[in-house]
Amino acid sequence: MGSLGDSISNGARRVVDFRSDTVTKPTAAMRAAMANAEVDDDILGVDPTMNELQKQVATVMGKEAGLFVPSGTMGNLIAVLVHCEVRGSEVIIGEESHIMHYEQGGISTLGGVHPRTVPNNADGTFDLKKVEAAIRYELDDHFPITRLICLENTQARCGGRCLSAEYTDKFGELAKSYGLKLHIDGARIFNASIALGVTPERLVRAADSVSVCLSKGLATPVGTVLVGSKEFITKARRLRKALGGGMRQVGILAAAGLVAMRDMVDRLNVDHANAKLMAEGLNAVKGLRVDMSIVETNIVYAEVTDDSVLTPKEIVEAWKEYGVLAMTWGRNMIRVLTHYQITEDDVLFALSFFKTTSLQAANHKSSTLSRKRTAAELAPVYY
Ligand SMILES: *Cc1c(COP(=O)(O)O)cnc(C)c1O
Repeated sequence: MGSLGDSISNGARRVVDFRSDTVTKPTAAMRAAMANAEVDDDILGVDPTMNELQKQVATVMGKEAGLFVPSGTMGNLIAVLVHCEVRGSEVIIGEESHIMHYEQGGISTLGGVHPRTVPNNADGTFDLKKVEAAIRYELDDHFPITRLICLENTQARCGGRCLSAEYTDKFGELAKSYGLKLHIDGARIFNASIALGVTPERLVRAADSVSVCLSKGLATPVGTVLVGSKEFITKARRLRKALGGGMRQVGILAAAGLVAMRDMVDRLNVDHANAKLMAEGLNAVKGLRVDMSIVETNIVYAEVTDDSVLTPKEIVEAWKEYGVLAMTWGRNMIRVLTHYQITEDDVLFALSFFKTTSLQAANHKSSTLSRKRTAAELAPVYY
């Protein structure tokens, strides 16, 4: 464990948690800063610590202003609703995007915005041509009106893939040429920045707004900062209040964010190296397969291949007994994320499980291990 963190092992039994980078607990420095934060009423706009955080994140992203919101989900919702403020609007988003899968369709159910999905390629991108084809190029009583394109960087469901600055620029140009806005769900934009060696400002230069998560790899307990123009943020601020996201002495949370910006960004390459090590280790296990070419940041998807006698659920359960927490992912995958509470030694410990546990039938006499997967386990999974 590095000097940044509080140990998560309680001394009794080693437990390492690879379920998500959302499990990260605030560092000792964050807790100290939170305890000592100067605060005031942020709904009145006078919390000095919050104002400093919003300014810092906006500056790093190269935008005029920032707004702290309680979650990435609220950040994306507000951004979409501000850009699509006229009823009957449509947003073009990736089929594999977080907004599409994990935000309860809030843009539709709460905002009346129609999502038009385009398929993501395996590398997280989508084809400019497909996006252009999806834009409603004329006003027609049959059509909603396209107002916005959303990208996600890193693209989580595609394996934490990074979108390059040049790629993003092309979408900025496309959006501009049709009078549309561009929003980036940048929950892990710092991971992309570190992995590509490109500043976040450059990566999001073409975007009108970006939501930046502080509570994933950056380890704060709460919060996302939405950035954009002054005009955009003024509207976003009104919507945040309507959605119940206005908070009072919230400098306590901003103080953790300021520590995150100072301490937690440059070290993300450690998480990426640990993810690679984990990916290589899992890929070497018979019965698992990892596409090494897609491991760019801190997310690893391991496919449980047909020749494994265990299902993803059984592997995750057995791993848990060993002291390793991971997630099943869909029907045939296991998902592992690295973050600041995971050391190289933790990765080696997690992999050591497979030295004693074979996923191959030939090595097992036990009939419970060599059973076939049930129909229920093979049924489609809805997220
Ligand atoms: C986690 C995440 C969000 C939303 O975050 P919450 O704070 O959990 O609402 C949005 N987009 C992406 C890509 C994410 O990974």
